[in-house]
Amino acid sequence: MLKGKTALVTGSTSGIGLGIAKVLAAQGANVLVNGFGDSETPRKEIEQAGAAHGIRTAFHGADLSKTEQIEELIAFGNQTFGRIDILVNNAGIQHTSPIESFPPERWDAIIAINLSSVFHTSRLVLPSMRQQNWGRIINIASVHGLVGSVEKAAYVAAKHGVVGFTKVAALETATTGVTVNAICPGWVLTPLVQKQIDALAQKQGITVQEAQKQLLGAKEPSLRFTTPEELGQLAAFFCSPAGDNIRGVAWNMDGGWVAQ
Ligand code: NAD
Repeated sequence: MLKGKTALVTGSTSGIGLGIAKVLAAQGANVLVNGFGDSETPRKEIEQAGAAHGIRTAFHGADLSKTEQIEELIAFGNQTFGRIDILVNNAGIQHTSPIESFPPERWDAIIAINLSSVFHTSRLVLPSMRQQNWGRIINIASVHGLVGSVEKAAYVAAKHGVVGFTKVAALETATTGVTVNAICPGWVLTPLVQKQIDALAQKQGITVQEAQKQLLGAKEPSLRFTTPEELGQLAAFFCSPAGDNIRGVAWNMDGGWVAQ
C-alpha cells in the first residue's frame, strides 16, 4: 500500500512510464506526471487507476535534457505534494546508427536524457528521502544496461551508466530507509520500439507483424513483449516492505534475453 506517498514518474505521458504510474496509483500513490505530448489523457488514466484511493495527480512538462527544468520539476513536486517519496527515472529516447555516422547531437541528447537526468533528479530528491528515512529510487535502465547491441552506442553507454549510478546510489544510502534499484526491460511494445519495428519492416519489405516476430525472435526467448503493467508490478514490489533491503540490483524482466 502506497497511500500517502507521492511518486514522480518521469516520461509518464506514454509507454512504460504511464504503465508504472498506473500501478503505483492503484496502490494509492499520488503521481507527479512528466513528459511530452498530451498530458490530460494519461493523467485521467492514472487518476482512474487510483480512484479507489482518491489519489491526486499533477503535471510538469520539464524537458529532462535541461538541468534548470529538472530543478523546477522537483521544486514543483515538493510544493504541490510536500515531498517526493518515490522517484521513477523512466524518461528515455533512442537513436540507432553505426558509430561512424552517429550524429553527435543525438549522442549528447541520449546521454543527457537517459543518463544525466537520473543523476540530477536523484541528487535533488535524496535530501528529503534521507530526512524521512524512507524513499525509493527506481531507474528504468534496459537489458542494454547489461549487454550490448549493434547501432545503439549512445543508448547502451547511457544504460550501462544508469546501472553503475544505481549501484553507487544504493551504496551511499545502504544504511538508510532509502533504496535504489534498476529495472532492465527487454522488448516492450511502446512508441519507442514501434519506431524500430516500422524501420525494420520498411528496410526488409515485410509486414509490421513479420517485423515484430523477427525482432522478438532475434533476442527474446519468450517470443513475447513484456508489458508496462508487468514492469509496474515489479516497481510496486520494490516499493513494498519486501523491498526494504533490496539495494543496487539491476533486475532484468526480459523473457530470457540476458540468460543466453
Ligand atoms: P516512450 O517513447 O513510449 O516514452 C518515453 C517517455 O519519455 C515519454 O513520456 C516522453 O514524452 C518522455 N520523454 C522523452 N524525452 C523527454 C525529455 N527530454 N524530457 C522529458 N520527458 C521526455 O518510450 P518507452 O518505451 O516507454 O521508454 C521508457 C523507458 O524505458 C526509456 O528509458 C527506455 O529507454 C526504457 N526501455 C524501453 C524498452 C522498450 O522496449 N520499450 C526496453 C528497455 C528499456
